[in-house]
Amino acid sequence: MMQKQWRLAARPEGIPDRSHFALTDAPIPSVQPGKAVAKTLYLGVAPVMLRYMRNETEFESPLELGTLMPGRGVAQIIESNCEGLPVGAIVQARLGWQEYVLIDESDRPAPFLLPTDLPLSHGIGAVSLSGITALVGVRDIGKVARTDRILVSGAAGGVGSHVAEIAKALGAQEVVGIAGGPEKCTRLQRDMAYDHVIDYKNEDVDVALDRLFPDGIDLYFDNVGGALLDNILARLRRRARIVICGSISEYLTEKENKHRFINLQNLGRQDAKMEGFFVFDYEDVYPQCLEMLATWVREGALNPVEDISQGIETLPDALADLYLGNNIGVRMVEVGQPDLPLASLSPV
Ligand code: NAP
Repeated sequence: MMQKQWRLAARPEGIPDRSHFALTDAPIPSVQPGKAVAKTLYLGVAPVMLRYMRNETEFESPLELGTLMPGRGVAQIIESNCEGLPVGAIVQARLGWQEYVLIDESDRPAPFLLPTDLPLSHGIGAVSLSGITALVGVRDIGKVARTDRILVSGAAGGVGSHVAEIAKALGAQEVVGIAGGPEKCTRLQRDMAYDHVIDYKNEDVDVALDRLFPDGIDLYFDNVGGALLDNILARLRRRARIVICGSISEYLTEKENKHRFINLQNLGRQDAKMEGFFVFDYEDVYPQCLEMLATWVREGALNPVEDISQGIETLPDALADLYLGNNIGVRMVEVGQPDLPLASLSPV
């Protein structure tokens, strides 16, 4: 029996397109001792994947041309020799861009079981790494407080779409989001709990920031980096926190053209902190975060926004969408449907 896989065909210089990938056929794997075979249901895309394709990350081994595209997703276990991964269970794991995968429990970050009472797609979004990233960023790095004046960039993206609801579930009162375009800004207020929005593509950001933050910003959750981050550095209140989650505005910029910061000294003047984090380093808090996120979804405090296309063929377009600004919420691809009854394990 054969399956489809996407492999890296060429290294993109700019935004990736279909010519950088090859859709190939490969045998469906057989189960092996200590491993399980899973059927892919959803695959997520993340901005960092472009950096894998360009071999720009230190934390992943080099991605050779011709190799399977890496990626995490949601899958159902269909054959198993792993005690912790029973047949029928739904897992979030490193699957790669393929329809069937051999899963190893010892992979790091480890595959984790997902609740089956929630939409399975949440297992690549809110009740998964996008949700955990937003939660760790707001709570553990940003140390959100009730009275904070909060700004989020990339607010309508996969991580950003969860930040306002999570900040409010943790006690925050008001959150401002920045995103590109009127449709995203409408959705920020209607579906993602943002109180005020700034459309950076159609309004003067300085004027909007002056109006919304006349006394400065306490907490900035940054997904885009670059010139906007520099602007915010100049607008910090005392003891402000900047959470460096990502810098998508600079991922395609050559080193010599990256933004040169002029307002960094303001961190010292304002007794403020700027701290980055990498969600894979927080594996020890995943179970507790997943439980919290799943509870918020069940209670209606967290309402995930997902942007789903159908079929494994759409994966290259899904990745390009992140850089084209086309996605609203967590961009993912539905690759298949479960064939077996869902194993009634409710881990979180
Ligand atoms: P995402 O925000 O859904 O990324 C796509 C969005 O980024 C686009 O819709 C677009 O929104 C915005 N964008 C694209 N190019 C841009 C540019 N040149 N300038 C400004 N905005 C641009 O992706 P995500 O997965 O949620 O990730 C958000 C950020 O967090 C990324 O930087 C990612 O690398 C980072 N991240 C970090 C961790 C961690 O462990 N720290 C984990 C996951 C993700 P607009 O149309 O609104 O511009």
